[in-house]
Amino acid sequence: MKIPFVDLHAQYLSIRPEIDNAIAEVIANTAFIGGQFVRKFESDFSSLLGVEHTVSCANGTDSLYIMLRMLGIGVGDEVVTVANSWISSSETIGQTGALPVFVDVTSDYYSIDENLFEAAITERTKAAVIVHLQGQPCEMQTIKEICDRRGITLLEDCAQSHLTEYKGQTVGTFGFAASFSFYPGKNLGAYGDAGCIVTNDAAFADKCRMFANHGALLKHQHKIEGINSRLDGLQAAILSAKMPYLNEWTQSRISNADLYNTHLKGIEEIILPIVRPDCKHTFHLYVIRVKNREKLSHYLKANGIDTAVHYPLALPNQECYKSRNLHGKFPVATELQNEILSLPMYPELTESQIEYIADKIRSFYK
Ligand SMILES: *Cc1c(COP(=O)(O)O)cnc(C)c1O
Repeated sequence: MKIPFVDLHAQYLSIRPEIDNAIAEVIANTAFIGGQFVRKFESDFSSLLGVEHTVSCANGTDSLYIMLRMLGIGVGDEVVTVANSWISSSETIGQTGALPVFVDVTSDYYSIDENLFEAAITERTKAAVIVHLQGQPCEMQTIKEICDRRGITLLEDCAQSHLTEYKGQTVGTFGFAASFSFYPGKNLGAYGDAGCIVTNDAAFADKCRMFANHGALLKHQHKIEGINSRLDGLQAAILSAKMPYLNEWTQSRISNADLYNTHLKGIEEIILPIVRPDCKHTFHLYVIRVKNREKLSHYLKANGIDTAVHYPLALPNQECYKSRNLHGKFPVATELQNEILSLPMYPELTESQIEYIADKIRSFYK
């Protein structure tokens, strides 16, 4: 049996008429950049999340950069973020001229350690970019309390956590603003690059919209120098067409995670993912922890099963931060980078595929 890591074609086939119609409509209206489809997507996404404003942009990395810049963050400032994430979370902090200050993760939930968070804050700290990695929410009660008390602007990177909930509240609504990515493989994915910022602050939304549009809200009226970061009509229409299915797809991911848990139970050599109590983990990734990861992933590959690692090198251990001598300071993230393994995860994965994967893992350890 061949099992890809994600199967975007299976999802397309399941809603083909809607997608094909959406694309045809954009072409018929030649609404390629901006226009009605982009505006509709923004209002659809605001409703989905229960926020006031969605500002679309070219990708999830830009949305982080735009938020940070429009908060006025720059040279001399520090922004706290997490040691295990995709590089966008920290590189966008550096791009503003500010210093990304890393916090280690916890070994149970793999997200930012809320007990180490406050110690990373200095008088230079302006904001925190926390990441709900894999679809698991961070410990928001503690983090929000610390940010409020210390006067730190809380930003959420929700690229892997569409519809994730912390104690009944959807992530992306805890901080001052949040960033989403709609990269094709994300839980809500476009057919190319796409991203957005969400916030309840109208003035901030306008600022972000202006910066993403060459510093102009009105044509040829450039109030500041901005960047060109826009969502195109095709991506917007595809995202709007997919959005009604997101809840159902999220439920399928959760069911698939339950099936993995059931079928992988009792294999002593692996640690299964756990969900923070009273929270909704949306399983962008299903990550197990093993001691001999390379051997296992090669064995699975030989049996037709694709796996991945998110991520094989924690951010502070990357070459781009070498001059900061961060080695050894993030023991949990560093241990995890050698042990985590992401198994195939997508809504259309079937129980027989999951059983096959679990059987192969079991036979590897026999
Ligand atoms: C995917 C991702 C991003 C960046 O999104 P792009 O749309 O690829 O630019 C940022 N942060 C995290 C945690 C991500 O997984």
